[in-house]
Order: sequence, then C-alpha cells, then structure tokens
Amino acid sequence: MKPPAMILSSVLLLGSWAAAQSDPFQRQAPEQTLPTIRAASTMQAPPASGTPARQSMAGSLQVPVQMGFGNPRSSNDGGTTRVVFDLASHVNYTLTPTFSGLRLDIQGARVIPSVTGRMGSSVTEYRAGNGQITLVTPFPLSLTDGWRAYEATIVGGTKVLILEFGATLTGGAGSSVRGAVLTSAPISTPAVKATLNTPLQADSGVAPGDTVTPGPLLPSTPALPGSTPDRPSALMGRVPGSAIPGATLTVPRIGKNPGLTRTVLDLPPGVSYRIVPGNSGLRVELTGVSVNALTQPSGTNISAELQSWHYEPTSNGVNIIFQTGWGTSIRSGWRAQLLPPSNGERSRLAIDLSPALADTTPLGPREKMLAGVPPISTNRGTALLSLAANYARPRVVIDPGHGGVDPGAVGIVVEKEVNLAVGLRVRDLLQAAGVDVVMTRSTDTQLSTDKNTDLNARAALGAGAQMYVSIHVNAMTASKALRGYGIETWWNPNHPLSQNLASVLQRDMLMTTGAADQGLHNTRSLAVLRNSRIPAALVEIGFTSHPVDGLNLKDSNYLDRVALGIATGIREALVTGVTANGKVTRGSVGGSDR
Ligand SMILES: [Zn+2]
Repeated sequence: MKPPAMILSSVLLLGSWAAAQSDPFQRQAPEQTLPTIRAASTMQAPPASGTPARQSMAGSLQVPVQMGFGNPRSSNDGGTTRVVFDLASHVNYTLTPTFSGLRLDIQGARVIPSVTGRMGSSVTEYRAGNGQITLVTPFPLSLTDGWRAYEATIVGGTKVLILEFGATLTGGAGSSVRGAVLTSAPISTPAVKATLNTPLQADSGVAPGDTVTPGPLLPSTPALPGSTPDRPSALMGRVPGSAIPGATLTVPRIGKNPGLTRTVLDLPPGVSYRIVPGNSGLRVELTGVSVNALTQPSGTNISAELQSWHYEPTSNGVNIIFQTGWGTSIRSGWRAQLLPPSNGERSRLAIDLSPALADTTPLGPREKMLAGVPPISTNRGTALLSLAANYARPRVVIDPGHGGVDPGAVGIVVEKEVNLAVGLRVRDLLQAAGVDVVMTRSTDTQLSTDKNTDLNARAALGAGAQMYVSIHVNAMTASKALRGYGIETWWNPNHPLSQNLASVLQRDMLMTTGAADQGLHNTRSLAVLRNSRIPAALVEIGFTSHPVDGLNLKDSNYLDRVALGIATGIREALVTGVTANGKVTRGSVGGSDR
C-alpha cells in the first residue's frame, strides 16, 4: 500500500506528463519519469486527462476508430522495450506470460495480421493474427518478472494498453489491467492439417511409442550433390559469369524420389534468382532470362509433392511457380542449392520439395540465447515457487523411450538411440536452467526385459516430480511410409494439465525445427502415460520410416533443435504453473503487483 500522498504525486506527475504528450510513446523529453503501474491505474477513473483546448492544440487527437487491434507503437529505453496498443472499450484481452514472451488473446476486435522483426532490445519479434498476438522476448517471463502491463488514458481520451519488457523488470500485470491473466498456457486446438496433401490420420498407423514390425525400407532421399547441410537453403543468389543477352530458359527437369521431388533449373550465366515460399507452393523469381514461348507444361499431379508448375513472365525475367498444395516456409518444406555446371555453360539451381524437409541448420545465435537463459527458479521469486512450494527446485522426469533389448522402431534410424540422444540433450538444457531432471535411463538399457514391467517402472519414477515427458520416434508400416512425417504430441487425460504440457511441447518443437505439424492427440492406450498421475506427454519427434524425415532424425542439428524445443516447452510449462500440484488459475491478478 502506498500512502495517499504518494499516489497523489504520481497522479500529478502523470497528469502533467500526459498533458504534455499526445501519446505515452512519443516521448520527446527522456528525463521525464514515466508513470508507475499504480499511478497509471489511478488514472483510469478521472476523465480529466485533456481539456478541449488541449485537444485542439494537439491536433489530430480524435479517438481513432478501431477497425482492428494491433499495429502497436514501440520505443526502446535502455534495456526496456515499451509497446503501446490503442484499446477500444469493447476489446477484451487475455495476457499469458510464457517462457518465450507474452501472448495476447484478443476478443471483440479483429487482430490485424502482421509479422515484424525486432521492436527493441527486449522484444525480438512481433507476430499477430488469428486473434492472437505474440511478443517474443529473449528471456522468459513469469507472472511477475520480465514485464509489466498497465492501462492508461492519454490526451484525447484514447485508452491504451502499455506493455513494458526488460530482463530485470518486475511487476507483471498492474491493477489497471482489465484483461485476464493466465498462468497456464491456453489449450490450443489441434493443429490445422488442411494444407498437407498427405495428412497422417491419427488412427491410421501403429500406436505411438510401440514398436513396428520393420518392413522393407524405402530408399532414403539422396543428398543434393555438393550440398552443405550446415548452411540454410539459398533464398537468393546469382549465377556466376557475364549475362548472355537474349538467353532463354529451358524447361525444368523434374526427378521423383520417394517422399521428395527434385526440380532442376538450368540457368545461364548472370541470372539472379530469388525463392519465395508460400502457402501452396514455391515461387522462383528469375531475372536476366526469359522464356521463348509461354507454353505451359501439360499435366497435373506430377508427383506426390508437385501438383503442377507454370511460368509467369515479369518485366525483367520470369517467375516459375511450383504448385505443391502444401505450405512451405523460409525454413522448411524445400531446400535449394546452386550447383556449378556439370557440362556446358549452365549452372543448376536444384530445388527439393518435400513437406518433411525440416530445419537442420545449426542452432543460431537467437536460439542459443534461448538455451542460455538464466535459471527459472529460486532467486527471482517467480510464480513457479509459489505454485510448487514443496520443492526448492522443480523436478521433471525425462523418459527416452525403449532401450536395451527393446530397440523401438527401426528404420533409417534406431528409435532407442535417437530417443536417448535427444533425452540427454534435454537433460543438459534443463539442468543448466536449474531444473532437477530424473532420467528413466541415461544409457542403452531397459528397466525390465518385460515390457509391462518396464513401462510401470518408468512411470513410477514420476513420484514427487512435476511432470513427465516421454520421447519417442514414430513409424508407419511400409505401405504407408510416405504418409508419416513430422512431429506430434500425445497426452493423457489422467491429469487435467497434461494437455497444456503437450500443447507447449508441440508448439515449441515446431518452432525450433520447422517440422511438419501432425498435431496433438490423446489416448488412454499408452501405458507410460496411462500409469502417470502427473502432467504427462509423449512426443513423437519424427518418423524413422519416412525417407526424408528419417534423415532429419539422423541429423544432429535436427536433434539439437528438437531437444531445445522440448526443453523450452518444459520450462514454459513450469513457469506458467503446469505442475503436479499446480492449478490452472484464471482471472486477474490485479492488486498483487508489488
Ligand atoms: Zn517408441
């Protein structure tokens, strides 16, 4: 409680500050003190922030008609990044602090879709669309640490929601915040799979986590000759040499491989190219070359990965559109390499198309920063401690599936080996973050040669832990091998928070890998989950039976990425209260700010 005199002085301070500024963002005098959260909250009631005279002086200070929610203003002050949204009265919002930033769920207004990069030192990305806004921070947020939020009324009567982010900020949602604050990630709906032309049916294969009878393996997809897997695919480039006037393009060569279609463009010297991923395919923009006649190739459904292709002439070249019918992104669904001429003068731009192609580049600086975040427990008084008061440190069980006599699924990789490799990486990341990790196994061994006894023994290790995460590799029978690729997460309805855990695990793994999303599933048939009485999830990190996905699993960069996704998901779940004795708390935490 602050003495009334202090509140009054804060109000006066805010009043003069607000009177001088049309918007808390457009600060022109850096020495002026910003209102505290409490001061901002006391400003909610009085409508005296601007007289008509001041409004006219300030010019265009009419309350903007809110056609949508978004397009915030931002500024940076030292390590603090401030983001301001106009807030129409009919807009409701929910704030969810997460391991990787703050999420806003908006009701009552359309969220203006947008993706932008860095807004300041403490907000590295802004994503908006589908009712949700995510502000990505390079440090984890808890209920009270790393951010604060308050509402204020600025001159002209416009209400704003002010969000501040900084690694050392404390406060969380102030009492002026009308929106709800979630301490547990909202449950996401199962992922949309409509863009995939070969969706994996949840009931089509083998029970996840169980061993498949290995069938004849499909040949794995060949690496691009001369490809360097450590380098991201080339989004743009230029063929060496001097341009040849009047050079024309030849028809793309197309090679079909199991699970992957390779297209090769023979490019004359001096041609520039740019590859643009999209929701239903890939566009290759070429400059410095043209096509003789715009004859379209005949036929559709060229392969499982390529429906069709066509030319689009441009003012200085030509575009080639590869229609896949499924989505590609900057990081996944394709890869490309410019190769030198094999004979003759033309270089080759080889582009592989497969929905199973994921990000196998080494973890970059941003991801490494994520991996190196400070411990989530003890010294910062996070929400975690109050939710898990029984434990000085959170404890998590990591279960690398199978082991010893039980290899799990066998295909391009052997499941038990990959599970362990990822499990050990997850352990290291979590321990570095101050989490106690119980491994069901840390070597190539089983807990019992009897499968049921083994699974029961694994589940029993969950006693006293906050959550249980089992790591597995998926497989399809040989006849369906091409239909199974990507990542999915299973959860068990035994504990009400299992789905929350599964949801953040799935989302974070997709974020770090760019892998195909096979969604969330629940079942009571998984023994290791069935026997669990704490929040539990089972991740399937890829398909050893798929010729492309199997190679992902063989790639240590991919395993690094999967492990980071699992670890960040677990830490987010811990920070947001998904624990064995935690509850989903919903509602305002107004008044609890310090
Ligand atoms: Zn398994």
